[in-house]
Amino acid sequence: MNLTGLESIVGASNVLTDAAMTESYTVDWTGRFRGSTPAVVRPADTHEVAEVVRWCAANGVAVVPQGGNTGLVGGSVPLRDEIVLSLRRLDAVSDVDAGAGQVTAGAGVTIGDLQRAARATGWDYGVDWGARDTATVGGAIATNAGGSKVARYGDTRAQVIGVEAVLADGSVVAHLGGLLKDNTGYHLPSLLCGSEGTLGVVTAARVRLVPALSERVVALLGFETVDQALRATSVLRRSLPSVEAVELFFDDGLALVRETFGLSAPFATPASAYLVVEAADHEDPTDTFASVVDELDVLAASVATSSDDRAALWRYREAHTEAINLIGPPHKLDVTLPAVELAGFVGEVRQRVAAVLPDARVWLFGHAADGNLHVNVTGVDPDDERVDDAVLSLVAARGGSISAEHGIGTAKKRWLHLNRSSEELAAMRAIKSALDPRGILNPNCLLP
Ligand SMILES: Cc1cc2nc3c(=O)[nH]c(=O)nc-3n(C[C@H](O)[C@H](O)[C@H](O)COP(=O)(O)OP(=O)(O)OC[C@H]3O[C@@H](n4cnc5c(N)ncnc54)[C@H](O)[C@@H]3O)c2cc1C
Repeated sequence: MNLTGLESIVGASNVLTDAAMTESYTVDWTGRFRGSTPAVVRPADTHEVAEVVRWCAANGVAVVPQGGNTGLVGGSVPLRDEIVLSLRRLDAVSDVDAGAGQVTAGAGVTIGDLQRAARATGWDYGVDWGARDTATVGGAIATNAGGSKVARYGDTRAQVIGVEAVLADGSVVAHLGGLLKDNTGYHLPSLLCGSEGTLGVVTAARVRLVPALSERVVALLGFETVDQALRATSVLRRSLPSVEAVELFFDDGLALVRETFGLSAPFATPASAYLVVEAADHEDPTDTFASVVDELDVLAASVATSSDDRAALWRYREAHTEAINLIGPPHKLDVTLPAVELAGFVGEVRQRVAAVLPDARVWLFGHAADGNLHVNVTGVDPDDERVDDAVLSLVAARGGSISAEHGIGTAKKRWLHLNRSSEELAAMRAIKSALDPRGILNPNCLLP
């Protein structure tokens, strides 16, 4: 492929072709999805992104937009020799409006940097998750990222007021004025949220901020059964408006995390299910929090208020993803269940996987407040989809969604019909062909 046209747009040093330089852009975070690319192109601004996409359209070259490459469904890597369009250089946070509680951020700004910029003005960004220092604003919008605070602040879609994006013909749509009420037709930001790079390349976003809450308390709670943990989740959410996160994991995951990272046991008495709960307010929520915890059916509890102690309790939960990945590329099946189905699903999913592949191991953890479980299965060949089929079919049979927050990517395309009717799929295809008639934007992602 002759890349001189691209070099003239972004400069030769920003068109990477050497395999050693492109390697990290062609394999996903889990190591399950690997591809190759003729080039990784690194534009510096919206104008260069538009020129690159225009060049791709003119030359019929497919392109995979990429941010931090922390996506977990194989949607961020070039599986059929597409060009990788890396947005990481669009990393400016600008125009913080401390009065309105809004900020404009480039697509390549990490979520951690966005949070820090907001906090410097007395605000905060309401979406948070473990990959915060690598995942980007563009990737978060493209996957409609959720994380641990969705029950309180909503998902990424709920934060986005406006976007700037480059469409498949290289034209730029921008709506960054920050008006909260603006009913002037189709809301393109909502459409781009969760579109996984298939409808446009996000170059910047105007997002709303939430008040920064300085008083925080974190508790680790141990339960004898998952039912007790889920009942406690409901009580905590109902009784404590200050609750920001309620995260679930189990004894086997805790043992793995402790063994992998040399962490001590949180309690003398082992439990079966655990919750990490965080509450935050302008006033210290510890006493109210402790009185609600006293009413719960807990086996053991540890409460932390200092920043280091809070981080130590969070580590038991946040280290799950990394510890599981170190076993070998997992099949990551992030799903939501209706609240009434969650406990039953936890019991049944292990049996379903064992029936298909007795040697596979199932690791469960997730965002209990949203009914969102991360089903991770290790000991499975990357291409063996029997386990995926068993788990996702069970989710659909119990009225759940096969993707809670990571998207569909390449990994779940085959099963999209479990959640979407043929009419819905036809409508999605019509939108895709209207905005990307030549199918150059992330063609292997989302739509079967
Ligand atoms: C340890 C760990 C924990 C995680 N926990 C969570 C969690 O709790 N909640 C959650 O939601 N996710 C979680 N994730 C998944 C991941 O961080 C999110 O999906 C994130 O939004 C991806 O952002 P990214 O910048 O890395 O995007 P990438 O991985 O680079 O891309 C993801 C998708 O977005 C598209 N894309 C990227 N940038 C753009 C752009 N500018 N314009 C258009 N399309 C674009 C890509 O083509 C791809 O389809 C976790 C990941 C890890 C590694």
